[in-house]
Amino acid sequence: TIPQITFSATASGSFTYFNNFFLDYAGISMKEALQNGWLAVIQPEQYGAASKAWEHCIETLENCYMEFQLKRKSDGMYRWHLFRATAIINQAGEVTSWVGTATDIDEQKSKEQAKDEFISIASHELKTPITTAKAYVQLLEHNLQKDDHADLIFAEKASRSIDKLNHLVGKLLDVSRIQHGQMGYNVNPFDFNKMIRDAVESVQVIDETHSIEVKGSIKKTIKGDEERLNQVMVNLLTNAIKYSPGTDKVVVTLKQEKDMIAVSVKDDGTGISKKNLNKIFNRYFREEGNGSTVKGLGIGLSIAKEIITRHGGKIWAESEPGKGSTFHFTLPI
Ligand code: ADP
Repeated sequence: TIPQITFSATASGSFTYFNNFFLDYAGISMKEALQNGWLAVIQPEQYGAASKAWEHCIETLENCYMEFQLKRKSDGMYRWHLFRATAIINQAGEVTSWVGTATDIDEQKSKEQAKDEFISIASHELKTPITTAKAYVQLLEHNLQKDDHADLIFAEKASRSIDKLNHLVGKLLDVSRIQHGQMGYNVNPFDFNKMIRDAVESVQVIDETHSIEVKGSIKKTIKGDEERLNQVMVNLLTNAIKYSPGTDKVVVTLKQEKDMIAVSVKDDGTGISKKNLNKIFNRYFREEGNGSTVKGLGIGLSIAKEIITRHGGKIWAESEPGKGSTFHFTLPI
């Protein structure tokens, strides 16, 4: 009677059971359901990817976790579902069966889409007036500097605020670029240590409460998008500071291994609960109720993950709640 699709399958992935909720939803008989399962009512363009992912789970015994659209018989609508399945393993370590669920997440999905659309339009609309304002303030700064005018300090303050605004809008633009597959990368060899130094310096200029220590160095030139990787570092460093009030140190460690480099950013801050360690890299996810009152958009880490993944690297976090967090990323040389 639960309002959710549930099913089971054999060790090799043949379906053995579907609950009534699914049969009613899809408008098919148990016999039909057992033949093709949810693949019978999946959005046709998603069929290939879904059956491949299912086969992959059967082979590797990894937990299955995917999203796809299933056709509802009553109105012919394809609704988004979150699908989860796990292997049941006996004491001898053999898989005896699979059990799974599919939950209707259509409403959350459309809310997310509306949010994405709004962010995309708003960020594009904001970009032009900010650029214009920046240009005029720069002109003003230049003139006030020439006359050695006492009001120069105000123009400089305005200029810094515009920079902050620009940075924020840039992040929002990145979200929409990632979604439309339009995030461009400018890949060239560059000095990795210098990129790290630049990132540390730019964060240190704004924040005086923490000192950022860099341990180790990278001996080789790295090929990648320096500006984008700088953006990842700045994000990790600002987070490390933002989420560690009352402490005064952040440590960056650089290591070079045979065919890759590893970077970590460690703080002694609020930490992240274990169940959210992967989720914090999802768009708009923010950990609530960790005692932190820090505001944010919940998008920095999702952008960082996209950038690192596009460079062929990996990014992840380790944390002990209340003691601090360490963010790691690796990049192939
Ligand atoms: P934002 O900081 O704007 O919310 P991010 O995507 O950068 O967005 O981070 C997502 C979430 O991850 C944050 O809201 C916070 O809950 C958590 N987080 C990120 N970095 C840290 C850190 N160093 N320590 C504790 N929590 C962190």
